[in-house]
Amino acid sequence: MTEQILRIENLHKSFGDLEVLKGVDLVVRKGEVVVVIGRSGSGKSTMLRCINLLEMPNQGLIHFRDERFDREFAFDGRHRPKASDMQQLRTHIGMVFQHFNLWPHLTARDNVSLALRRVLKMPVKEADARAAQQLERIGLADKVNAYPSMLSGGQQQRVAIARALALDPAIMLFDEATSALDPELVAGVLEEMRRLANEGMTMLVVTHEMGFAREVGDRLVFMNRGVIVEEGPARDIINAPQHPETQEFLRSIIH
Ligand code: ADP
Ligand code: MG
Repeated sequence: MTEQILRIENLHKSFGDLEVLKGVDLVVRKGEVVVVIGRSGSGKSTMLRCINLLEMPNQGLIHFRDERFDREFAFDGRHRPKASDMQQLRTHIGMVFQHFNLWPHLTARDNVSLALRRVLKMPVKEADARAAQQLERIGLADKVNAYPSMLSGGQQQRVAIARALALDPAIMLFDEATSALDPELVAGVLEEMRRLANEGMTMLVVTHEMGFAREVGDRLVFMNRGVIVEEGPARDIINAPQHPETQEFLRSIIH
């Protein structure tokens, strides 16, 4: 068995009276691409946000492990993990959101460079150089000095991906990274994600792109009302879903 990068056990998260995650268990192994599907409101984003502690789970456990950082976070709804541990965890987890969350007043390079300076405390010169290099790698060499408003949605999302990758994360989380894009721009971003997967990046991907799920996903996870109701090899789940809720969901999105 390949080593686990991420293990989630019995994860619970409520917002007031609304229990959004009701005991999620999930393991992601090194080099694996795990695709998460499920209805809107089923808790997919909340799960990703809990993983890098943008939201504090109420109960459960998150274990992150790679060569550089190995830490188990246990939650009881009262105690917060140590700030330095949370900070460190986040440097190893790259996250890409539906809305790119770029700074509008900063160029592509500065958006990436700022993350390096803030998160890794990298000196400006080194951060700028690494940022330019990362943008180049993602096919945006000619856009380093462009502001987000001068870029297409697809290019903006690739800047956001470059920003996450620049930190050299052990795992990348994608939260519907293509759903805010114009249809003709979706393929380019999916292509970038596919390339990353082929390079061996460990990825946890929330998406409705079933073509991507089928071709790139090693494992497909169906989430419903705050729990994972079914998971398995992507092709198996898509071709022969076992759970009635999975069957119904897949019918509703595959025409
Ligand atoms: P998904 O990503 O699967 O669409 P979410 O995780 O975004 O689902 O949301 C799950 C539920 O949690 C929804 O009912 C949503 O309204 C609620 N929710 C998400 N974030 C918050 C929040 N910060 N405060 C209150 N409710 C929230
Ligand atoms: Mg969501």
